[in-house]
Amino acid sequence: MEKFAKIILHPKKERSLKLFHPWVFSGAVAKADGNSSEGDIVEIFTHEGEYLATGHFHNGSIKVRIFSFEKTDADENFWLNKLQDAYRLRKSLGLTENKNTNLYRLVNGEGDGLPGLIIDIYGSVAVIQTHTLGMHREKQNLLAGLKSIYGPKLEAVYDKSADTMGKQGVQQVNNGFLSGEIREKTLVENNILFNVNWVEGQKTGFFIDQRENRKLLENYSAGKKVLNTFSYSGGFSMYALKGGASLVHSVDSSKKAVELSDINARLNGFEERHSVFAIDVFDFMKKSDEKYDIIILDPPAFAKHLSAVENAMAGYRNLNTEGFRRVSKGGMLFTFSCSQVIDRGLFRKLVFQAAAQAKRNVRIIHQLSQGPDHPVSIYHPEGEYLKGLVLVVD
Ligand code: SAH
Repeated sequence: MEKFAKIILHPKKERSLKLFHPWVFSGAVAKADGNSSEGDIVEIFTHEGEYLATGHFHNGSIKVRIFSFEKTDADENFWLNKLQDAYRLRKSLGLTENKNTNLYRLVNGEGDGLPGLIIDIYGSVAVIQTHTLGMHREKQNLLAGLKSIYGPKLEAVYDKSADTMGKQGVQQVNNGFLSGEIREKTLVENNILFNVNWVEGQKTGFFIDQRENRKLLENYSAGKKVLNTFSYSGGFSMYALKGGASLVHSVDSSKKAVELSDINARLNGFEERHSVFAIDVFDFMKKSDEKYDIIILDPPAFAKHLSAVENAMAGYRNLNTEGFRRVSKGGMLFTFSCSQVIDRGLFRKLVFQAAAQAKRNVRIIHQLSQGPDHPVSIYHPEGEYLKGLVLVVD
């Protein structure tokens, strides 16, 4: 008997896989041999019987997420090799042994040939987040791989997938810790201290993808009055303060989040120039027309699905209009979208409409993206989710 069940594609639906796109949509499947169920490993073949790829099977519009375009047994060694590839890239980026920065993304889903998997490194702790049952089932292999790469330096491995996997009936053991038990840590990013709690925090605890963009803000902040909206744990705020901002306001609707930004400000000795507001950003804007030299707009994804695009477009337009209105003459707006379904061109158009509505003269000085430890496979453009513009506003 073959080790893995076979999936045979429709003859006219083989092209995208031959071009290394990592998803097989349900409409492309002509025949599924055997009884493939959620999370199983399957092999994909052309109508003529030529092997194409191996991946995890799912019930949904994406039927298979590919993790190999070469035949594989997908054993412990296979997963170790995958993690080693990912580690090699981060090492070449200067992230693995860096005194100034000890948190980075080790695995970025499709961008590392591992759909459904995120691994973030927080000093001596690795945080794994799986988005599919198939990848979730590999966690012992992933744990073994991480231990082999990092050795005794790795003190704990936390599995952040309790929520998503809980819905699929997967029980968490050891409070979600696959190894060791460390719930939070003070880490350093570009010489700025951040307390990160992966158990209670959003995502894996920190928004690592904005590192380079925060660094850019630091360069422009000397003497400036800064408004950081959707501030979470104060990532952008701390960089502005480090860069010499005269005053920073952090606004987030989550009380926990603004408390975190407060803690981080204290850790760095910035508390005197930092104020927090636990309030919805749109309410904050309604209450006051106060002007700022630099404003950061980094909202959560307004649209997670195509069906919500219209509403999201209106959301981005309104938010940016309000932002433009509050930037003082000659000031700057850092504006972002992390909605995958709003592409770069559309985002820019929405910001353009907002600028026109606010009647400001606006010029683009930087076009931003996610950091290099969040690589995008050229065959999977959907992986490029973070878009940002830095604008000078007259
Ligand atoms: N810029 C941050 C990440 C932002 S994540 C960083 O670099 O770390 C998005 C944040 O927006 C979350 O903290 C969430 O609590 C907050 N949020 C979501 N909707 C909001 C709203 N309507 N008003 C204010 N904050 C909101």
